[in-house]
Amino acid sequence: MTIIKQQDFIDSVESALQYISYYHPKDFIDALYKAYLKEENPAAKDAIGQILINSRMCAEGKRPVCQDTGIVTSFIKIGMDVQWDADLTVQDMVDEGVRRAYKNPDNPLRASIVANPVGPRVNTKDNTPSVVHVEMVKGDKVDITVAAKGGGSENKSKFVMLNPNDSIVDWVLKTVPTMGAGWCPPGMLGLGIGGTAEKAMMMAKESLMDPVNIHELQEKGAETSVEKLRLEIMDKVNKLGIGAQGLGGLTTVLDIKIKDCPTHAASLPVAMIPNCAATRHAHFCLDGSGASYIEAPNLSDWPEIPQADKSQLKRVNIDNISEQEIESWQPGESLLLSGKILTGRDAAHKKIKDLVDSGQSLPDGVDFEGRFIYYVGPVDPVGDEVVGPAGPTTSTRMDKYSEMMLSSKADGGMGLMGMIGKSERGEMALKAIAKYKAVYLMAVGGAAYLVSKAIKQSRVVAFEELGMEAIYEFTVEDMPVTVAVDTKGNSVHKTGPAVWKIKIEENG
Ligand code: SF4
Repeated sequence: MTIIKQQDFIDSVESALQYISYYHPKDFIDALYKAYLKEENPAAKDAIGQILINSRMCAEGKRPVCQDTGIVTSFIKIGMDVQWDADLTVQDMVDEGVRRAYKNPDNPLRASIVANPVGPRVNTKDNTPSVVHVEMVKGDKVDITVAAKGGGSENKSKFVMLNPNDSIVDWVLKTVPTMGAGWCPPGMLGLGIGGTAEKAMMMAKESLMDPVNIHELQEKGAETSVEKLRLEIMDKVNKLGIGAQGLGGLTTVLDIKIKDCPTHAASLPVAMIPNCAATRHAHFCLDGSGASYIEAPNLSDWPEIPQADKSQLKRVNIDNISEQEIESWQPGESLLLSGKILTGRDAAHKKIKDLVDSGQSLPDGVDFEGRFIYYVGPVDPVGDEVVGPAGPTTSTRMDKYSEMMLSSKADGGMGLMGMIGKSERGEMALKAIAKYKAVYLMAVGGAAYLVSKAIKQSRVVAFEELGMEAIYEFTVEDMPVTVAVDTKGNSVHKTGPAVWKIKIEENG
């Protein structure tokens, strides 16, 4: 009989969550580096390079790989012969570990969990509660896997009830393009096949806890139907040409993970959940001998990626920019932004809309006219940081506000000149961008710590009560961005994948 002490459990969870906030798994780094070396689209290669540089910086600085430090999900397998020396439930012990990890003063992680999701959506401030899956198994140990899943990739989860003879490959190939780039590819796709609806979703999520190892399968060849399916989906999804950050390119997925189980003769449930550039999970075991602390990796695990040659890029002062200059920017062009930008994401946009609808004015000091907004919810700073990791969030969620934000003040709008975020824009935003001759720039999702180094000053200008969702003013210097939608509404997220799909087809 093994006795597991409450404090050992909590300390182990806390330590593992801090660990995964700044260390990418080695298998993921290796696979990403291979994709970097192989990539032929310069924009996609640069995006992967930024993710790898960011990853090394985070490992060195012990700061989060992404500003979205995720919702904690754990899979806990408890041996039937384990006895607990604990007052708390397993859920409460995990949550205590989450609380401590996310409020660690040396590396505070962003609290992203809101209570009452259909109501006021108030941030719980300590990233609890987490999602805990418990399974009773044979043995006398507790086996724990913790993951921190970003909202951008979790939002792209899909589920379908296929007919037994339908093609899973066809459904995946039809569905992946509809997911856009909000899941920050390249990453993994986890599939759960069989069981019931909820079992399929669970298996899809759990499959993402396995290491990236499809290269081993590619070398040895498929023997089972699941292995064949992994290889076929991997090959065909990469042939879609979506590429890193949806810019078009050779690698969209680094691996396809599949878990399956028996199902009803009438059913073929299929769940698909993507894992993003911030792939974060760790596995450890408690055997009664004390807390588990995962050994730090060696920094030599990270490749040396050359930084972009800034002298080759167009430098732009956005404090002093004309409409003519913005009109000259080409889709796909790389820019280095300097000047003052405002921030805002879901909650701030809703507040602005509520104020507009009720005929009230914006808080003092908030004026979007002729300015750029950056969709971001940063991590709190530590030490001499101006701001913590501050990468872009998915812009499509703000599409419905684009008319209000871009239309002129005379017409009751905000008079915004441009937007900065990640992933593609929907038709509504594209139309508004073209109508108002605005522009949409993208920063690399998953390169949050790297991006934050371009932010030289930061201050909250409104809605402080929203925490990370407040409106900040950032002073940036050489912030790397790509023109994703030009003033005519042309989008690289449409043209890039289309071009690369054809190139891949032509090259066999
Ligand atoms: S890498 Fe992208 S999808 Fe993943 S957590 Fe960060 S912003 Fe979200």
